Amino acid sequence: MAATIIDGKAVAARVRGEVAQEVKELGELLGHPPGLATILVGDDPASAIYVANKRKACSEAGIADHHNHLSAEASQDEVAELIHDCNRAPEVSAILLQLPVPGGLDGASLTALIDPHKDVDGLTPISAGRLVQGTPGLRPCTPLGVIELLDSYEVPIEGSEAVIVGRSDLVGKPLAALLLARNATVTVCHSRTRDLPAVCARADILVAAAGVPRLIGAEHVKPGATVIDVGMNRTEGGLRGDVDFEPVAQRAGLITPVPGGVGPMTIAMLLRNTLSAARLALSG
Ligand code: NAP
Repeated sequence: MAATIIDGKAVAARVRGEVAQEVKELGELLGHPPGLATILVGDDPASAIYVANKRKACSEAGIADHHNHLSAEASQDEVAELIHDCNRAPEVSAILLQLPVPGGLDGASLTALIDPHKDVDGLTPISAGRLVQGTPGLRPCTPLGVIELLDSYEVPIEGSEAVIVGRSDLVGKPLAALLLARNATVTVCHSRTRDLPAVCARADILVAAAGVPRLIGAEHVKPGATVIDVGMNRTEGGLRGDVDFEPVAQRAGLITPVPGGVGPMTIAMLLRNTLSAARLALSG
């Protein structure tokens, strides 16, 4: 039997609608709309498109757009000064430093300067520590989007075997912490994992976040499992995930497509995180 296809666009549209409604209410309490400061350094075309899409989504939700574009020649100190300015600005609820930054700049050190209350990507060491310790804080957007998809399709997380392929700070590690906090039994695989198909085939929830097209085939999937494909790989055939969609869809119970699965959720959760950051400002 073919899997049910998870409609990330529809779930993202619902989240964005909810955020737009709450933005209005929160704006009245704050005296100004919640605002997102985007920081783009240099002229990398892919980064420019990502930032433009995020700004457009913010504007559509009624979130104020505070964009900053620095030249590729900007120094570490100049970017740091801008981050400090955004940290101090009351109209800025959340700050997004688009990564990667140009060579010569240290993206991790710059990210660490963001006020954790405004850390909309949840990537500062303080946010990462709060996630691991289970204390309140802002969480990375893509892992939050995966959890939202699972909840929207009522996939049981507690007690389930969850296997994540990929251990990046952006996706794999924070998703492991979120799933663990929801009482899944979590296994994290990486490039040195022995017998990847056997480990993946244990999963009730299998998340592919490796950046390798078609890494996950039918042999990696337990019949009826939920398969979430985070991968976004630009190939000659177009945008592809990490999952070999056709054969896996014959075996899985639920599956995300690429595009139209996790991708739209990342931006939706960015908007929700901006709202969460604005609420933090309100509670002081
Ligand atoms: P990353 O930093 O490159 O990490 C990739 C991870 O996959 C690493 O942990 C790596 O293992 C592991 N890996 C690579 N090849 C493997 C293999 N053959 N078998 C098992 N594990 C393997 O990537 P990322 O930033 O997490 O992104 C992963 C993918 O998700 C990319 O395609 C990216 O474009 C996509 N992405 C999508 C969204 C979205 O919104 N949909 C958001 C973020 C990322 P090692 O640690 O051992 O090297």
